[in-house]
Parts: sequence; structure tokens; C-alpha cells
Amino acid sequence: MSNQLSNRINSLPISATLAMAAKARELKGQGKDIISLSLGEPDFNTPEFIKEAAIQAIHDNYSSYSPVDGYMDLKQAICNKFKRDNNLDYKPSQIVVSTGAKQSIANVAQVLLNPGDEVLLPAPYWVSYSAITILSEATFKEIPSTIETNFKITPEQLDAAITPKTKMIFFNSPNNPSGTIYSEDEYRALAKVLEKHPNIYILSDEIYEHVSYGEPVFSFAAIENMYDRTITVNGIAKAFAMTGWRIGYIGAPEWIAKACTKMQGQITSGANCIAQRATITALEAPISKIQYMVDEFHKRRDIVLELLGEIDGFELNIPGGAFYVFPNISAFFGKEIKGHKIENAADFSLFLLAEANVATVSGESFGAPECIRMSYAASEEQLRKAIKQIKEALS
Ligand code: GLU
Repeated sequence: MSNQLSNRINSLPISATLAMAAKARELKGQGKDIISLSLGEPDFNTPEFIKEAAIQAIHDNYSSYSPVDGYMDLKQAICNKFKRDNNLDYKPSQIVVSTGAKQSIANVAQVLLNPGDEVLLPAPYWVSYSAITILSEATFKEIPSTIETNFKITPEQLDAAITPKTKMIFFNSPNNPSGTIYSEDEYRALAKVLEKHPNIYILSDEIYEHVSYGEPVFSFAAIENMYDRTITVNGIAKAFAMTGWRIGYIGAPEWIAKACTKMQGQITSGANCIAQRATITALEAPISKIQYMVDEFHKRRDIVLELLGEIDGFELNIPGGAFYVFPNISAFFGKEIKGHKIENAADFSLFLLAEANVATVSGESFGAPECIRMSYAASEEQLRKAIKQIKEALS
């Protein structure tokens, strides 16, 4: 039978991060000793005090539908968190809790974008921003950056990229995949450009907020005249080692929050009730309770930078946060290594999988075709072994 699927799904790319993770799992299942540095997922267990809260919620018979936009006391806890960490004033009516930050972003795109609208993506960007834009029938335009500027775009570039069709821009600091953090001054300079274009909305994805190694993380909505058109996205997955619990949230102008609730009411009816209860406990805890994980990521970042820095052809920036390195490996393009022709980052990533047994993600779907992404949310032992194997494969 011929392909009867919709144009929508046929034109949607597969998530490169999840596809590589699945491939690594498949190879492991076949008995291959693959080290997976593909997925951005903390290798820690969810902290005990959060697990206890979830167990308590089950005993307390939380088993019915929650309000579509989340429990009121969770939304209040999110408002308190926004005030405490970001100096942002949101009311519960401006909060929507969703099944992961990915759904939060998809909701926003669905309620704001029309066919023909343009979305600006400072590159490199997380793979799903472009896919979610395509699903919303809008188009995306990349604003490129390179390792020389530590993967930051300039106000001049932003100015030049804006057209009358531009409806939204995605910011993500700390950034997945580069780890780059925009300073307050840098964000304010970009905001100056956006001031001239009052019809552009800003989606600020702050999911890696707490995974920062000393540089302050600034929320875009904290810029006075940006607050009314910024949607702040966050969640618990990365900081609290709770990826599978699937809880994300937005703080947004009330009319956007309302529209997201309407959308969600037809698609998921709201997020998992046990996970929502546990999220209250997570967000009310002092940040010091999760610092041990951030400290460990910091240590691993330094080890990975040192060891990869010893390999000729790996050009690295120093990521200020998140848990990825994003080396430019274009020095290998045009070479043949152990019978593998390396024409691009995808070839290099497949070469590493075949010859070093290390799974990485090629930079193409992050809008940076000269790079590969390696997650260091893996044990120190695994990281050392992976890089040793990469070195041997290249020797
Ligand atoms: N955000 C993580 C990553 O980039 C999880 C996988 C995904 O949803 O893309 O690896």
C-alpha cells in the first residue's frame, strides 16, 4: 500500500537526539559495548526527597485529572520559583504546566504561529525547535554563529535577519548544544533590536538554568519591556534528574497561557498528577539540595575538555553550562579514516559509532553542520573510556 500518511508527518524530521539514543540502545541490545553520549539526560537518580513526595501523593490518592493547566498549589510554587530564581513576577493565571518542556514549547508554537510566519533560530539550536516550527506550518530561519564568537549571535545579525514575516525568536541560555550562556548585557543588546519590532514574540527556553558553572543565568523576560511578549519555558528534567517524569511549564502573558491551556485541553488533558505533586517538592527545595549534581557535571566538563583537547582536529569552546560539548570537527572533512570517507559531521558521528563504539549526535540537525554533540551526563569512567576509544579510532 502506498504511503497514506499526512504531509505533516511526512515532512517532519525524526528527532536526531532520540534517534541516536535508540540506535545506541539497539546496538547494546545486540551485545555491542556502546558508550552512549547521545542523550542529554542526567545519569543521577531522582533525589530521595522528591521520590518520597511522589509516593506520598500516591498514598494520598492523587489519581484523578488535575486542572488542565496544573494544580493551583503547583502553579503558585512555580510563581515563587520564578520570583526566587529569576526575579520574575508571574501570577498563577500566567502559568501552564505541561508534559515536559517540549510540550510547553509545542503548545506555544501551535497557539502563536500561522502558516507563512517566520521563526528565527540562533544556531546552534536544540533539534526540536525547528521540527516544532515545521509542525506549526511556519518556516524557520537560522542565524548562524561560530565557535569564534562562542556560538553567540550579535545584535547586528539579529537586526539583519528580521523581516515583516518574523513572528517569534527562540533563545536558549545555557544553550543546548553549545553550553553558551548569554550575559545580561548581551541579552539587553539583543532586546534593543527587538524593541523596534513589537510584533515579535520571544520564547526563552531556560531548562538548563541551574546547570551553570559560575556564570550568572539571566532570564530574558526580566528585561522590562520584553516581559509582555516573552514566554519563559522551564521544567524539572535537567536540574532534578527527572527527565522521565515529564513536567515542564511556562510563565507567559495571560492570553498566551490561556490559549496554551485550551490547546492542551484537547491534546493531553494536563500533565501526570503524581509527577505534578512531586514537582511542588522539587521546586520548594533550596537549590543547594541539587548542587552535588551540578558540581559533578562541572568536574566532568573539565575532564572532557582536557582529554578532547589532546586530540588533533577537535576545536572546542568552553561551555558555561548544560552538559554538552560541541566540538567543531570539520578538520576531518575530506579525509578517509579506516575505510570511512568523512564528508560531513554525520559521517564522522557514524565513524565514531562504528570504530570507537561511541554514540554522539551530528551537528546538522542543530543547525551547525561542522560540529558533533557529545553529552557528558555519563560517569567519569565512561567518559574517559569513550575518549580513549575515540583517540584510538583516529590514530
Ligand atoms: N533534550 C535532550 C537532548 O537534547 C533530550 C532528548 C530530546 O528530547 O531531544 O538530548
